[in-house]
Amino acid sequence: MNLHEFQAKELFESYDLPVSKRGLIKELSDIDSAIDSIDFSNGCVAKVQAHTGGRGKVGGVKLCKNKEEIENFASSWLGKNIVTNQTDEAGLPVNIITIDELTDIESELYMSLIVDRADKCVSMIVSKAGGMNIEEVAETNPEKILKLRFKKNNQAFDKELDNLSSKLGFNSNQSTQFEKIVLNTYKLFMDKDLSLLEINPLVITRKGDLHCLDAKINVDENALYRQEEILAKRDASQEDQREYEAKQHDLSYVALDGNIGCMVNGAGLAMGTMDTIKLYDGEPANFLDVGGTATKERVGEAFKLILSDKNVKGILVNIFGGIVRCDLIAEGIIGAITDIDVNVPIVVRLQGNMSDEGKLLLNNSGLNVIGQDSLMEASKKIVELVK
Ligand code: GDP
Ligand code: MG
Repeated sequence: MNLHEFQAKELFESYDLPVSKRGLIKELSDIDSAIDSIDFSNGCVAKVQAHTGGRGKVGGVKLCKNKEEIENFASSWLGKNIVTNQTDEAGLPVNIITIDELTDIESELYMSLIVDRADKCVSMIVSKAGGMNIEEVAETNPEKILKLRFKKNNQAFDKELDNLSSKLGFNSNQSTQFEKIVLNTYKLFMDKDLSLLEINPLVITRKGDLHCLDAKINVDENALYRQEEILAKRDASQEDQREYEAKQHDLSYVALDGNIGCMVNGAGLAMGTMDTIKLYDGEPANFLDVGGTATKERVGEAFKLILSDKNVKGILVNIFGGIVRCDLIAEGIIGAITDIDVNVPIVVRLQGNMSDEGKLLLNNSGLNVIGQDSLMEASKKIVELVK
């Protein structure tokens, strides 16, 4: 799950990390109070709040010297979508704008903390090439990227951190500030179960202080059950509506571009099902794993979800009954079709636990459901039917 920049900065503040004071604007009438909440003597930086970076390049970050410039910025963005090199073509809705106190910048650095799977620890990446696309720097100038690993019981950690400061050319004051930023971001990362924390840019101000100008946070979805404070910050408007809906029902759903809806139990089988559809030149409309313990209710929700995608012209259900009983799945399918008026062809493959009973239920239901025993035949059939 992602947070908005202003939400990330609120967390930063509670970990004593240096960020600019800011005011929030949700409608034009908020502008006066937003200005009053900051030191506006040098103007401010207006920023679109949306779950994307690269806002600066498309006019989503703008220095404003007076109220009128803020008004122009706000009225040109609020209620619109922002499209960046990190979003899809539709972009993301802009419902909030912030105005940050202005920072005078001497230079820009890049800093992030990630879950480093290769090294089995959390690692910090820092680079003097800030404000730029870090993937590009990694490609063209890998030597400009420095890394610090947070390994348990690493006696040399303090020394490594010192070395890093000197490689980055910090004076003693800046080194002290940097050390604090490193330790506090790490604490925040661990406390809140983050998967990414990125400060791009981390700047050195004209006065010579380190300052976090941007803040990006991704939280591990699997930890949200114990992160109530973070969960309360969720902004569903920034997420794919069907994927969001799916999460509410514990379904793993990923929207895709094709026209064949897929309902499968188990992520591996779901991948295999999508592959066989592709093999017959079909295009899956989604990845959907109803889980190893699919219930009748979950199957119903899954159907609703698949059908809320208007591109879906047919559905392939592929269930392997291990713990799951196929007769219960069949009941779920029948219930869903009767409840929600399905008028696209449905091909169902049931195998395993109670599959004969399941098939019998479907055959006797009087519904237009085509049963298949083999996945190859089932995929071929649904591809033919949507054509
Ligand atoms: P992003 O484009 O979505 O990553 O948004 P950022 O928050 O990183 O802002 C983009 C750029 O705007 C930064 O790299 C800075 O160069 C500039 N910027 C942001 N805030 C300030 C500020 O307070 N003062 C100045 N001078 N520039 C700023
Ligand atoms: Mg940035």
